[in-house]
Amino acid sequence: MKKKRLFIGIVVVVCVIALCAFVLCSNNLATEENYCYYKQELFFNEQEHLLDGKQTVGFFNYTDVVLTQVCLHLYPNAFREGAKAKVVSLANQNKAYPNGLSYGNIAIESVSCGENYLTYEIGGEDENILIIEFGKELFPDESIEFEIGFSVSLANVNHRLGYGENTINLCNYYPILCVYENGGFVTDLYHSNGDPFYSKVANYEVEITYPSEYILASTGRQSTEQSNANKTTKMTANKIRDFAMVLSRKFNNRSDSFEGVQINYFYYGDKSADLTVETIKQVLAMNKKYGSYPYETLTVCEANFVHGGMEYPGLVLIADNLSDRDTYVNVVVHELCHQWWYGVVGNNQYAYGFLDEGLTDFNTALFYDEYPEYGWSSKEIFANAQKSYNNFVKIFGDVVTDFKTDMLKPLNKYTTENEYVYLSYVKGMLMFASLNDMLGEAKMTKCLKYYYNQYAFKEATPNDMVIAFCKASGKNLTSFFESWFNGSVVMGEF
Ligand SMILES: [Zn+2]
Repeated sequence: MKKKRLFIGIVVVVCVIALCAFVLCSNNLATEENYCYYKQELFFNEQEHLLDGKQTVGFFNYTDVVLTQVCLHLYPNAFREGAKAKVVSLANQNKAYPNGLSYGNIAIESVSCGENYLTYEIGGEDENILIIEFGKELFPDESIEFEIGFSVSLANVNHRLGYGENTINLCNYYPILCVYENGGFVTDLYHSNGDPFYSKVANYEVEITYPSEYILASTGRQSTEQSNANKTTKMTANKIRDFAMVLSRKFNNRSDSFEGVQINYFYYGDKSADLTVETIKQVLAMNKKYGSYPYETLTVCEANFVHGGMEYPGLVLIADNLSDRDTYVNVVVHELCHQWWYGVVGNNQYAYGFLDEGLTDFNTALFYDEYPEYGWSSKEIFANAQKSYNNFVKIFGDVVTDFKTDMLKPLNKYTTENEYVYLSYVKGMLMFASLNDMLGEAKMTKCLKYYYNQYAFKEATPNDMVIAFCKASGKNLTSFFESWFNGSVVMGEF
């Protein structure tokens, strides 16, 4: 995600129960490496702002332990009245809810498993987790398939999930499997800061029916059929970390391609759509040095969105209220660079937001060196970022007792949005910029290429990243990274 205008005149970031036995299934969708899979059949009710549907989940036990349950995130419940975890900070409330506060939620209507039974309950600290008990043991490398019936009520909010004046944003709308690691499922709450998400890649088949006046931007390859007043679009996408869609009556479309990747750009406010398509192609060309964009389609769309933009695999949202062209381009580049850092190389964005945001902002700064016609340079961006960061630390340090600049902390440990932005995006970017200065561009590219290939379609921790960079550079960078992570670093000049 990208939010907040900061230092260079362009935006910086600104992302019941039923008894049951269980069934082992052969999974059709889970092809290579036994990925989990999701099959959805959805119906969008425009009058009621409801998204109803059912989802078949194929869960492959990728852990090394016997499991008796799985947990799935219910992110739409963060939008319900009385939610403990707010979806936006007070400062952004009016911008997110221009028509006053509005609420939504997800109702789980059924969970079933063929002819057998299983049990389920809504849990978590904030009704944010669906817990499904198998009633039997699921051994490593075994699979289970179950079906969830659900209904999502959309709030009138300019957010990842919700309807606004121009678009209906259908992101984080479905129950998605929590990641199992270190002996349990990761069930962190939604948070108004950053992108509070963490998921593994999976294979998807999604079908949605909606009024034919709408145009659909989505992850994956589409095929659409018209029937009377409705359209039905089928989408497929494999090895992706999440799946998202945006509907609008106002979308214009530009299509293009780059080395086999189908590019779709949906817009309604952009007066320079052809130039935006060029920018998209430039990012694809620039980042090939780390590893080619691995999916068949790449879609960019404008949307009513409270922050600058938001990344999903194969689909990025760009806010329709950005102040100027430079900002617009910057957000497009930032969100597209996330396809490499978040999308393909995954990380826990709740626990280590700096890992994808810092690297994405560093990657974005390099874009301006590659394409000087935009009038910026990474040197200028890093120098301005450092000044801005130093000012922030001085001012924030004066008012907050015991202020620390360590980076290894989760979203809920930052006291303000500003603190999160400066430590994750700005300091994260400066860390990679400093390493770039130290190693030189050729070795830095080698490190990023190695990191990308080592963790493609997997999830990296900060420690994994450090080890990858040490191996690829042939240098012991442990102390370097440690000083940035723990806040003891003394920054040089850019
Ligand atoms: Zn971002």
